Amino acid sequence: MSQRIRLLAEVVANRIAAGEVVERPASAVKELVENSLDAGAKKIEISIERGGRSLIRVTDDGHGMGPEDALLALERHATSKIRDASDLLKIQTFGFRGEALPSIASVSRFTLRTREPEALEGTEVVIDGGKIIRAGSAGCPAGTSIEVKQLFAHVPGRRKFLRTEETEWGHIEHGVRLAALARPDVGWVLRRDGAVFWQDTARKDLEERLAAVFGRDWKESLLPMDVRDGGMHLHGYIGRPGVNRATRAEQILFVNSRPVQSGSLNAALLEGYHNALMRGRFPITVLFLEMDPSGVDVNVHPSKREVRFRQDGDVRRFVSGAVAEVLRGGSVGPLPMPTMTTNGFTPAMTLSPLAHQPAVTFPAREPLADTASGGSLELKVESAPGIPAGWRFLGIVDHLYLVAEKDGGVVLIDQHAAHERILFEQLLRQVAQEEVHGQKLLYPVTLEFPPLQASFLKDRVEQLGKVGLGISSMGGNAFLVDALPPRIRTLAVEEFVRGVVADLETGGTGARKDRKLSEEVIAKTVCRHAIKANDRLNEAEAVRLMADLLACELPYTCPHGRPTMILLSKGELEKKFGRAG
Ligand code: ADP
Ligand code: MG
Repeated sequence: MSQRIRLLAEVVANRIAAGEVVERPASAVKELVENSLDAGAKKIEISIERGGRSLIRVTDDGHGMGPEDALLALERHATSKIRDASDLLKIQTFGFRGEALPSIASVSRFTLRTREPEALEGTEVVIDGGKIIRAGSAGCPAGTSIEVKQLFAHVPGRRKFLRTEETEWGHIEHGVRLAALARPDVGWVLRRDGAVFWQDTARKDLEERLAAVFGRDWKESLLPMDVRDGGMHLHGYIGRPGVNRATRAEQILFVNSRPVQSGSLNAALLEGYHNALMRGRFPITVLFLEMDPSGVDVNVHPSKREVRFRQDGDVRRFVSGAVAEVLRGGSVGPLPMPTMTTNGFTPAMTLSPLAHQPAVTFPAREPLADTASGGSLELKVESAPGIPAGWRFLGIVDHLYLVAEKDGGVVLIDQHAAHERILFEQLLRQVAQEEVHGQKLLYPVTLEFPPLQASFLKDRVEQLGKVGLGISSMGGNAFLVDALPPRIRTLAVEEFVRGVVADLETGGTGARKDRKLSEEVIAKTVCRHAIKANDRLNEAEAVRLMADLLACELPYTCPHGRPTMILLSKGELEKKFGRAG
């Protein structure tokens, strides 16, 4: 193919379309990834530099394009995916509008390299702000690679609307996660500023991909769901009763593999949860609705994020009914109660970008049955597994103290001190084995610190990372918090982090700025701030707490030296009641 330079016929129209299709770098990534998926890719690599401002590159091993198609693809409304208007009623591909490539190419420096697997040569097209700079044959691997540099460089107005690199990156990452969840069968590599940020090989099922995206504990606070009715299939996971959020941000929904937003589905979920959810709280979900594509209108919004259902009422009833059914099933019988430090839905990676949104809140698990209702002491006869011989759990006083029997005496256990000790030992053990898996926050939090604290913090970022507290300097006095130490449950990430930092800085004994902090001191501080009053334990959790405490190396005090237990021995009881002698 000879080189030719020409102005695309509709640069202006394309830029206008770009305003709708390419709101921000993440939208360009989304469009490119969707094209790769539509091209049957089994492996997609995404490289991002400076939050997508300087580079977005999406490389796939899909079916590629021949030379004519490569050029045609850059014309507005050129699409290989639909042929006539009736196709719009049953869209099975992600793309169909034929707008994405020309739009992106009109507002960036754009390079397309593509080769069909059986072709000897590939094609390269370079476009700068809508002008074709080069088009010709090129050696390249089978598949397609699209590079978008200097996004919006030609439209300074739009460039100004870009948020910080961090925010734009967050949106990109969120989108990639969603795509990765939608397509476990595809291998993904996500690079940020040159380094691999996340990757996962092709998986055989969603479960494996969920673990790869959200970390090993992802299941703990979720219930599986798999319900079919009248051609609709709803499957995935929803939060257990009591596991919910203050925002919709973790309500992840797919319709026919497309991540969507839908007022109807939102409403259906709330209906399904009805009395399992307080007002102003939202379910967490990773749900997939499969249905006849002709029942879904995806052409509501240029970025295809919103959907409408043709039989809206039916879909809504089906979804709310399915959710209610699963919740009913899920709330009877014992739920697995691994420990009171359950993390809930704590992704191993951040899922969304909206750093200004409230921090991810870890679920305060509602007690399933309040065995210590009214603060009374309840007698229990059988001893539970996990507690050493000679011990017997009796009850909980004032939601605060566990009561147990040991060798004829009575033991009172301070729930919070005990919890602190358990967390502390677990954390230190992991630090020692260099096995700390921080819990990535769904929403990284940006925090400004006072100048002194900020400079103190800058030097300790790495150390904090060792205990799983992911914090990084964003320049000036701003820091990004993107991970919490393992098993730390907190409702207020910001408060927690500020508390830890302030404590470490003052060291409790006045400013000692160059003091070298040991991991132990950090772990101690982290654990103290993790423990919040008023955790209501149910009996299973209380027993588990007790067992965990008794398994500790130093069970008798919290890391700060306060007692975790008070023992009234048999002898003491006898003395006090005047039986001795
Ligand atoms: P749409 O996806 O709506 O069809 P796009 O502008 O995103 O429109 O893409 C235009 C066309 O370019 C697609 O229909 C497809 O034929 C082709 N195309 C785009 N990206 C790829 C890719 N990664 N691999 C193969 N073909 C592609
Ligand atoms: Mg497309």
